[in-house]
Amino acid sequence: MIYLDNSATTPVDPEVLKAFVKVNENFWGNPSSLHAFGARAEQLLIQAEKQVLTLLNAKNHKVIFNSGATESNNLAIRGFCHAYKKRGNHIITTPIEHASVHETIEELEQEGFRVTYIDVTATKEGILQQIQEAICEDTILISCMHVNNEMGMILPIYEIGQLLKKYPKVKFHVDAVQSIGKIPVDIDKMNIDLLSLSAHKFHGVKGCGALIMNQYLNLAPEITGGHQMYGLRSGTINVAGAVSLAKALRLVIEPLDSNYRHVKSLFDYAIQELEKIDGVVINSNREEQTPYIINFAAVPIKGETLVHALEEYDVYISAKSACSSKSAAASRILMALGIGEDIALESVRVSFSDRSTKEDVDQLIKALKVVIAQLKY
Ligand code: PMP
Repeated sequence: MIYLDNSATTPVDPEVLKAFVKVNENFWGNPSSLHAFGARAEQLLIQAEKQVLTLLNAKNHKVIFNSGATESNNLAIRGFCHAYKKRGNHIITTPIEHASVHETIEELEQEGFRVTYIDVTATKEGILQQIQEAICEDTILISCMHVNNEMGMILPIYEIGQLLKKYPKVKFHVDAVQSIGKIPVDIDKMNIDLLSLSAHKFHGVKGCGALIMNQYLNLAPEITGGHQMYGLRSGTINVAGAVSLAKALRLVIEPLDSNYRHVKSLFDYAIQELEKIDGVVINSNREEQTPYIINFAAVPIKGETLVHALEEYDVYISAKSACSSKSAAASRILMALGIGEDIALESVRVSFSDRSTKEDVDQLIKALKVVIAQLKY
């Protein structure tokens, strides 16, 4: 199988799975129990939290372990805006956020919050200028993703974080799902207050995620009950999920530079080979681009048709993101990035992981050439 849909999900690392199973076999106590067996599970949880904070350099933060970034984004944005609505009602974001950010903010707009969408087709300086101009007395939150999941575009998180030092009342939420373990993420240096991540995007187990939050912030809980997870996410804690998430994070962050170099060489090679194919238009050619994602169109073939045709050759890529691929409409994200509707409908995404190989790229190109020739004529 040639699996090139790693932005949708990645295979679980055997070491991570081992850690998950070991906790479930030996340390399955409830970390909220008063007895020593529960306390052992609690210790593992505390250790996992410390590891996550150290790996992402977050000194004044705590970790809400949960089911994934969708939950993190919902809690970070709705929970923050509801807790601080007396301070102001203005949110700044981008039009290319994941649905779990976009729809949460749209819902807040219905409730009376005012939203400014930054045009991210501008230069880095242009993006910063728009943010600076949008910030006013009422602004309480900026929510901006680090890497876009369909295009691979990198947003200037470090620079936004520095700008926000001038506005301590404005808090900064970053959806880092597609950057964690791929490009450097330093929560303190980037001045991030709230950061969302999902373990299954970096060889962790599905259903395990985290919201890393500034410990001095308040959030309105989304799930009430037994007050677990600092009172912000009630429900018996998935200790195996937390331990395996910390392990998965260490396994991708330690070799981050060498993984990056490897994937960059695959990206350069794939672009070079794709450009040789008649009708291929590369969408991901921006300067600020992660090599883990390539978005392109094989004109005039519909993205969905191409995905299914490649499947016949055991090659797996995606049309749009996995979360939005069931909708027939052109991608909201590509259109916001200035790509016309026709090309947007013909676009597909190839996404690498550190385990992808040159052989995978060769097989992709070989299969692409065959199916494009079949579908065009
Ligand atoms: N944000 C981004 C940028 C994503 O790519 C995804 C996953 N497609 C999510 C949030 C949501 O993650 P999950 O499905 O693991 O909750």
